[in-house]
Amino acid sequence: VCRRLVGRTAVVTGAGSGIGLASARRLASEGAHVVCGDVDETRGRAAAEETGGIFVKADVTDAEQVEALFAAAYDTYGSVDVAFNNAGISPPDDDSILETGLEAWKRVQEVNLTSVYLCCKAAIPYMRRQRRGSVINTASFVARMGAATSQISYTASKGGVLAMSRELGVQFAREGIRVNALCPGPVNTPLLQELFAKDPERAARRLVHIPVGRFAEAEEIAAAVAFLASDDSSFVNATDFLVDGGISGA
Ligand code: NAD
Repeated sequence: VCRRLVGRTAVVTGAGSGIGLASARRLASEGAHVVCGDVDETRGRAAAEETGGIFVKADVTDAEQVEALFAAAYDTYGSVDVAFNNAGISPPDDDSILETGLEAWKRVQEVNLTSVYLCCKAAIPYMRRQRRGSVINTASFVARMGAATSQISYTASKGGVLAMSRELGVQFAREGIRVNALCPGPVNTPLLQELFAKDPERAARRLVHIPVGRFAEAEEIAAAVAFLASDDSSFVNATDFLVDGGISGA
């Protein structure tokens, strides 16, 4: 593995599991100081211990906790170079527009979209002062193509993440800050496994549409996160960066 992030500080939300955990590991292996944010204390602490970073218990829907997360990164390591705003939840059980209730809709927007707004709002002031930063917001391939599995709240929340990332990437590029939306295809993580356990047919339906013929492993998404975090992606800005095995192109 290359060491592209020596001396950089990376905040990762949802670092306790899945894509966040694999990315925390990868960023640390490339030399970054990793600040592991999660609402789940046990998983978040384990991630911090393993990566040699620090854990901050932060619910990404809570503005004060999000501010404290980025402040802890700055206070401990002296900079905020990378913000991987990744925490999110899967769709409610029946997320068809005909069934999903207003409360379920609001909850998904809060955890998947408002959280990204709060994290960007907290991270960007540090990055402006440094005149350097990479923000990576986890959207999803569904923001590009629709899921065709009745996930209205989830797909809408990810579309919002994508549009917000583009807007911010354009606004702050001249200040040395890049903002990209990461769009993973279906990834073999606890989030996906739970979804498929409830509806096994959904897994089979999904699989036939992935040209690569399998789900991604979290490490394959983490490799893209490390690229977007590093100066190797210095001309990559305001994109929807697809890592989806070809599903959105098929
Ligand atoms: P995961 O469930 O394995 O991990 C999510 C982590 O986020 C958990 O550790 C959880 O505790 C944490 N979290 C949940 N709510 C939180 C909150 N309010 N505050 C702080 N932390 C919170 O999920 P994953 O599959 O790794 O998904 C990570 C991101 O990737 C999500 O935004 C998800 O929507 C997105 N995504 C996943 C897939 C996939 O197929 N797995 C595909 C595209 C996009």
